[in-house]
Amino acid sequence: MSKKLGDLSKEALIAFAEVTPEGIHHTSLEILTPLKEISKTLNKKLVVLCLTDSAEKLINIKEVKFCLADELWIVEHSEFSEFKDDLFSEVLSKIIQETKPIGVFFPATFAGMSIAPRVAGMLNLGLCAHVNEISIEDGKIVMSRPTFGENIIAKLYSKTIPVMATISCGVYPIKTKETEVEVVKIDTSEFSLSSKLKVRKRVVKKPKVNRLKDAKVVVAGGRGLKNKENFAKLFKLAEILDAEVGATRPACYSGWVEEDRMIGISGISVHPKVYIGFGISGALQHTVGIQGAEFIIAVNTDKEAPLVKMANLALIGDANKVLDLLIKRLQK
Ligand SMILES: Cc1cc2nc3c(=O)[nH]c(=O)nc-3n(C[C@H](O)[C@H](O)[C@H](O)COP(=O)(O)OP(=O)(O)OC[C@H]3O[C@@H](n4cnc5c(N)ncnc54)[C@H](O)[C@@H]3O)c2cc1C
Repeated sequence: MSKKLGDLSKEALIAFAEVTPEGIHHTSLEILTPLKEISKTLNKKLVVLCLTDSAEKLINIKEVKFCLADELWIVEHSEFSEFKDDLFSEVLSKIIQETKPIGVFFPATFAGMSIAPRVAGMLNLGLCAHVNEISIEDGKIVMSRPTFGENIIAKLYSKTIPVMATISCGVYPIKTKETEVEVVKIDTSEFSLSSKLKVRKRVVKKPKVNRLKDAKVVVAGGRGLKNKENFAKLFKLAEILDAEVGATRPACYSGWVEEDRMIGISGISVHPKVYIGFGISGALQHTVGIQGAEFIIAVNTDKEAPLVKMANLALIGDANKVLDLLIKRLQK
């Protein structure tokens, strides 16, 4: 039995979830971890909102069934088999207008980053993008993110209600609870469900093979490694140490390594026991992604480099030479 919009819980915290034909995007579940704390503190319900063509398939995903949310709102229709920015934004805006949530949060995935500003624009609301931390201060939702050329961490409050934000990927772990989430199907008769977009073909990207996010040891390289050949040595070291290779943005943009290995605000966050940075300066945009590292080692020619200063252990010297020596010694 589906519910009308008017019968849904009011003043909740809504987390939009990106549903794909392959399942649910993991960041949709990651963002529930901080939002659960917020909802508990504010004594509000936490709701996950999914637009899908198959509610049954969705409910049977274990991590969805036992997710941290109090309610799982599902809008089910064949039109939602593919992501369509205009249609999804329209439906979401209507739900927000009717249920008056206090906050609406999106994973900073392609879908989340596409519809969040559209919905904010349609409803004349503020939007905070790429939040890395979210908390409550004096009863208000506070969001933190690097800003001003990404060199300082800014705390942001929303002037409009609901508070809206996209939350960065890979910042929070996915948590589940023991009890099943309450499933609420929403009656689609109140939506117009028309889209100007037509999906002609769907090409699925090859699944990512790196396990950087969960790696116990990360060896990362930056511009100081100078070229692709030197950077490639990191893979040899990673093999010996059972580690994963990470990179800074310049290393990725120079084509030395794939972009899915980028650590930082535009990439992913890692939580290893040991992180070793070779020829990395330690710009804030990179270091926000290694906040979860337990032990940081920096290899740099510059003893004043920020990563050297924040490291538990620093080796001042040529990263390429250190890399060669390390591989040689460890291979023995
Ligand atoms: C909006 C925005 C988003 C961004 N997002 C990200 C992101 O997600 N991730 C990211 O990494 N960056 C990101 N950046 C880029 C970021 O600002 C820095 O430019 C970048 O992290 C620096 O990379 P790097 O340390 O490799 O290079 P550099 O800052 O150029 O540092 C190179 C380091 O190598 C050292 N070095 C030089 N030669 C040697 C040698 N022979 N041996 C040892 N050390 C040597 C130098 O002393 C220096 O410290 C972003 C920037 C912006 C504006």
